[in-house]
Amino acid sequence: MEDGFPASKTFNQGYSLTYDDVILLPHYIDFPTDAVSLSTSLSRNVPLSIPCVASPMDTVSEAHMAASMAALGGIAIVHYNCTSSQQASIIRSAKALRVPITPSVSFASPVDGLPAYHGRYVFITESGGLPSKLLGYLSSSDFENLKDKPVKIFDYKRDCKSVEYVNWDCDLGKIETLLDEKDSDFVVLERDGEAVNVVIKEDVERLKGYPKLGAGTVGADGEWMVGAAIGTRESDKERLEHLVKAGANVVVLDSSQGNSIYQIEMIKFIKKTYPQLDVIGGNVVTMAQAQNLIQAGVDGLRVGMGSGSICTTQEVCAVGRGQATAVYKVSSIAAQHGVPVIADGGISNSGHIVKALVLGASTVMMGSFLAGSTEAPGAYEYKNGQRVKKYRGMGSLEAMTKGSDQRYLGDTAKLKIAQGVVGAVTDKGSVLKFIPYTMQAVKQGFQDLGASSLPSAHELLRSGTLRFEVRTGAAQAEGGVHGLVSYEKKSF
Ligand code: 5GP
Repeated sequence: MEDGFPASKTFNQGYSLTYDDVILLPHYIDFPTDAVSLSTSLSRNVPLSIPCVASPMDTVSEAHMAASMAALGGIAIVHYNCTSSQQASIIRSAKALRVPITPSVSFASPVDGLPAYHGRYVFITESGGLPSKLLGYLSSSDFENLKDKPVKIFDYKRDCKSVEYVNWDCDLGKIETLLDEKDSDFVVLERDGEAVNVVIKEDVERLKGYPKLGAGTVGADGEWMVGAAIGTRESDKERLEHLVKAGANVVVLDSSQGNSIYQIEMIKFIKKTYPQLDVIGGNVVTMAQAQNLIQAGVDGLRVGMGSGSICTTQEVCAVGRGQATAVYKVSSIAAQHGVPVIADGGISNSGHIVKALVLGASTVMMGSFLAGSTEAPGAYEYKNGQRVKKYRGMGSLEAMTKGSDQRYLGDTAKLKIAQGVVGAVTDKGSVLKFIPYTMQAVKQGFQDLGASSLPSAHELLRSGTLRFEVRTGAAQAEGGVHGLVSYEKKSF
């Protein structure tokens, strides 16, 4: 009964296929959805309980995203579009956020006026953010009268005498009890004399309504595991030293074309200098590229060129590969060496995650899927009546002006050519809520395929049991909602 095609045939026809081009044929179910395990590895020595990685982008991965992804059992890679001490400070902050609540309050420095977008409170800290020494705060009743006035809010602040402080590693239950006992609306979490987070009552209620968190991604130091991105320049060796001291658990060499002498030398340097630190190389999309980095000693590979939602590389440079083909091809060789693969970019729904994983990836790296969440850096704004957050490519002119040009320009280019755009994505709420629902959807996909885990999916792939077909344009249209005058799409 010949039906559908194995991956080895589907992805060897001379076409560059992406997730939407292919469809998987269902197989046989003999276990319930909840029996599906999505536990996996980011790299040789970094186990995760969910296959989700937040991309090293300055509108995606900073402290709150890193703490929340780790709390969910995934991981974030902190971007390096900042100084090395700022990047190290983001890593330290993430590790201090034991309760991964992203405050719904605002922060300002002593010289600031009232922020344009703020929550019920504005906290004034020495640095204007966290972690930092708390100097005072204002509540909504205080700043009502200050709106549109050119004043320094520091002159109108309340002092900290009545503020309740708790230690940074206090759990949610204790925070809740304290808020009740002291009849306080917020509590400040402190580490080494600095405020590391502010939790208000409303945030505690919000977190309690989300799916229950599991064990999370915790390192040998007992703190959240956090990854860090760096480039391949000489100065990145010094940067890495700061990051390792800050507790970075894994390093990602961030390049849009990773098969270079610069990256190979950097991999060798890191493996010699920090033998305990996992190094992820990339980006690659071909078997030959992957082979070179594997030989140099990488512990993980990042796959994707031109697949990102904000990316213009294929248009600008005519180089890249359809993401489904790239993931399948690179995974085929990486699996022979026990090197986990990260499918990076192009994920816009749970179906794409299923496809990336069953094509051989161990994790998916996401930018746009996580941007716009409560945990992503930046403030919400309103555009055409929609609540949005900025999301920009690290190869956009705007981001490169701030310093991210290494990834896209290599070592010598003097003129900046953008390979990405600046945009915005709608408010998605908290990753602590939508990632668990997304993982449940992925489990349902695995169940339909008869795969109870990632290793079992990879086994079905390599044995040819998993069958694929390429979808025509009409089949793709049929596979989406169609023929309705209007509809509301709600996934959970
Ligand atoms: P997304 O999840 O939004 O589809 O893609 C995110 C991925 O796009 C990132 O992890 C990174 O690999 C890639 N990326 C980020 N910024 C840029 C950019 O400006 N240009 C290109 N070519 N790729 C980018």
